[in-house]
Amino acid sequence: METITHNLIAVYIQILCFQFLLFPFNVIFTIIFAYISHIIVDGFSIITYHTPDAHKDDRFWLIWHIIIYALSGVSIVIFFIPFWLSIISANIMDLWDWFIARPIQRRKKKKDPESKWKNPLYLHSSVDWFRQKLLFWLPRLTYKKVGVVIEIIVILIFCILLVPYYI
Ligand SMILES: [Zn+2]
Repeated sequence: METITHNLIAVYIQILCFQFLLFPFNVIFTIIFAYISHIIVDGFSIITYHTPDAHKDDRFWLIWHIIIYALSGVSIVIFFIPFWLSIISANIMDLWDWFIARPIQRRKKKKDPESKWKNPLYLHSSVDWFRQKLLFWLPRLTYKKVGVVIEIIVILIFCILLVPYYI
């Protein structure tokens, strides 16, 4: 799913951990739960509009991504202080895979297009595993535009959950 979705869930996890756990468990479980939340949330991304490749010629794709990237940026600005710990923990998988693991894999493929080599450091393998084992029954909506509704609902639910902590 999108960064804003990961961020909102991560913020909520940190709030709950710091509300109910004492140091150092609040810190430890914030990191663990935020990291695991990425696996679960990404597992469910098959029921959201999530084309694996960019469709820049498609107006809907373009507008949706401009909005969702802007909102993701805003969510980082709003929440990073004081929720940097959970936000980093919840996004480390994307940062690592998109900026380190995937480019390495792409370079290998470029050198040898026949190569079946899969980067063992690719962290989203755990998402694939989780999805295959437990979420195989879900419909695949990654190319269906209606999938944005599900992501918007998740975003709204967590915005509402966070309201009491911000008023
Ligand atoms: Zn991810």
